[in-house]
Amino acid sequence: MKWGIGLVSLLAFCSVAQNLSIEVDDTWPAEFRQEVETILEEAAEKIWEHLDPKPNYKIVVRYDSAGPMVLYREYSSLPDDTVEMLLNPDLTVSGFKAQLIFQFGHEFGHVIQDYNRLRSTESKNNWLHESLCELLAIWLLKAEGEGQIIDSFRARSIQLMEQIRDWKPFIQATEELLRDNGYARKLNAMIAYKLYPAFKENPKLFNAFRFLPKSDSELEKYLEEWADNATKSFSDELVEEIKEVLFQEHE
Ligand SMILES: [Zn+2]
Repeated sequence: MKWGIGLVSLLAFCSVAQNLSIEVDDTWPAEFRQEVETILEEAAEKIWEHLDPKPNYKIVVRYDSAGPMVLYREYSSLPDDTVEMLLNPDLTVSGFKAQLIFQFGHEFGHVIQDYNRLRSTESKNNWLHESLCELLAIWLLKAEGEGQIIDSFRARSIQLMEQIRDWKPFIQATEELLRDNGYARKLNAMIAYKLYPAFKENPKLFNAFRFLPKSDSELEKYLEEWADNATKSFSDELVEEIKEVLFQEHE
């Protein structure tokens, strides 16, 4: 029955639009608001199309020098179902789009990780969560065809990443430092670039972000807990793939 099929696909289309809402509020300069909203909607949809089952995201994006960050529930005045995201790209430069996408990509990673549950800033495994958000930012920027933000900092991270032959001992030797400093940006970027080819090949891996456990266990145990957490959604093979890639020797 043609009418039925048409109705079903129309409903499917509507639910896509309803489940993902991005609003750029009036803290942004008026002349940028529409452009920023369009850029962010397009960026979010690129990731969102790979998420399964589809989450329900309502995000209000503010222009605020305190960003980039997403606010924990207790610091946000918005309703409980709404994410308050603060971004601060330099709007005076013509290339602000790349910076905007990069900042948004990182924070959207925290949204997928369910940051209110995970409480990364209080976790010894913040470094891993941060590395995965960096990875999402890189992935998104490259998917946008904006090239890579290869500033000297990231170029150096790629260089260092390529020099490491054997990743498992490297991470084991670095883990204590990482656990004490979740924002060791160069190390986070190295880990992100190491994982990037696998996520480029299979963006479904982003679904694994949703199952990150709230735990301070050391990496080896943490990865087991992560896989266990994902089992109930039959997503543990995603975590296994990430683990294999992370510990793979450099070819
Ligand atoms: Zn972060």
